[in-house]
Amino acid sequence: MSTVTSINPYTGKEIESFKTHTKKEISEILQNADNRFYSWRETSFTERKKLMLAAASELKKNKEEYAKTMTAEIGKPIAQSIAEIEKCAWVCEYYAENAKEHMKNEIVKTDAFKSYCSYEPLGVVLAIMPWNYPFWQVFRFAAPALMAGNVGILKHASNVFGSALNIEKVFKRAGFPANCFSTLLIGSDSIEAIIEDPMVKAVTLTGSGPAGSAVASAAGRMIKKTVLELGGSNALVVLKDCDMDATVDTCVQARFQNTGQSCIAGKRLLVDSSISEEFIERLVKKVRELKSGDPADEDTYIGTLAREDLAKDLESQVKRSVKKGAKVLIGGKRQNAYFEPTVLADVTPKMPVFNEETFGPVLSVSTFKTLDEAIALSNDSKFGLGVSVFTKDIKAAEDIAYRFNEGAVFINELVKSDPRLPFGGIKESGYGRELSEHGIREFLNRKTIFIN
Ligand code: NDP
Repeated sequence: MSTVTSINPYTGKEIESFKTHTKKEISEILQNADNRFYSWRETSFTERKKLMLAAASELKKNKEEYAKTMTAEIGKPIAQSIAEIEKCAWVCEYYAENAKEHMKNEIVKTDAFKSYCSYEPLGVVLAIMPWNYPFWQVFRFAAPALMAGNVGILKHASNVFGSALNIEKVFKRAGFPANCFSTLLIGSDSIEAIIEDPMVKAVTLTGSGPAGSAVASAAGRMIKKTVLELGGSNALVVLKDCDMDATVDTCVQARFQNTGQSCIAGKRLLVDSSISEEFIERLVKKVRELKSGDPADEDTYIGTLAREDLAKDLESQVKRSVKKGAKVLIGGKRQNAYFEPTVLADVTPKMPVFNEETFGPVLSVSTFKTLDEAIALSNDSKFGLGVSVFTKDIKAAEDIAYRFNEGAVFINELVKSDPRLPFGGIKESGYGRELSEHGIREFLNRKTIFIN
């Protein structure tokens, strides 16, 4: 056993210390979860729906309480923390209403008297989750998993253990049976042994590439299913016939919300050179208006990064890019865990702000002359989570959607997650899908039933 201390990145002060679980405690948690699975899968959709709707109500009722912890732990502006909790209530409601339909038997006509595909839960699913959306990342796994009859074990990022325990509290307060959803307070060095445990049937991870690779390797050795939602470096492709005012607003939000710490943030702005001067001028003006400050203040839009080391990494990416010729139009400086909203122009694919994931409020800007060049630049990334295309010619944009090597193409909108739509990437952004019926089916056994 050791302790993990969470630090408020805005004040630099300690929030709380947590004792990590011992090996014995980990075994007990796994065993209890496994035991619970066999009774939980027998419950009806009506019963699960009632509990999941109670979880949604609990989130709405105590959103300030949960948001406060989140804001203290990662420096996330409080208004955005509250919005995150509300979105979690939405995903709970969505799966409460739709899981039964998603898991309906699929009758297939064959030479059998009757044959069909039956969707059945797998058992204990381990979720390894990041700090950037401490509630949302977990709920978009937990709501479908529990509605499906699986049980969940959460290993949350080490800087958000308070939020991890709060999530457990939500399910408890909603009346879920004990051990349907449990939290392991452990470091990532304990993960491999847990993945190897026969009681764990599948693993989902949201986080960095190295974490994804380590987890997928361990799970692969044990032939266990994984879903990986890793990094991204989405392009914002601005064509010359866009609605400029609306596009500037959307691009600013796409890059700077959650203080830029989002896998689906629009990190690389690609703008047609014939409008780039005016577009960039308007964009920089908007970025200047973003209010940085105390994350606990309701009107703060830019908080701190979640940890000082993450801000230092970002600073290094910016410095190395500037050395290679990028021009700072605004921002560029760090103070402890705070990083100024930054726009860098003249960015080329050889620069770190283009070819690495930047996890903070830094927007890189490059220009293009032709549509082919725009698509090539957009695809010139090891990631493939999503892209936004801005144009008034919706038909033309829809027609080129297939040319983007991405998990999602959003036209005249920032890439965002919605419980009703599949979410996930290709290339080094990972595999598998979350949300919608695609998400719930990732951790189900598609069992063939054949009756002669
Ligand atoms: P990590 O990917 O290291 O952490 C995410 C989760 O994975 C945490 O729960 C972490 O636990 C766990 N983890 C880390 N390494 C391993 C491992 N080898 N085996 C098992 N679990 C592991 O993210 P960081 O916090 O270090 O952030 C670094 C960068 O990752 C960011 O700057 C960003 O680029 C990217 N990232 C992407 C996210 C996304 O949404 N796609 C979210 C977060 C980060 P622990 O905290 O205990 O190490």
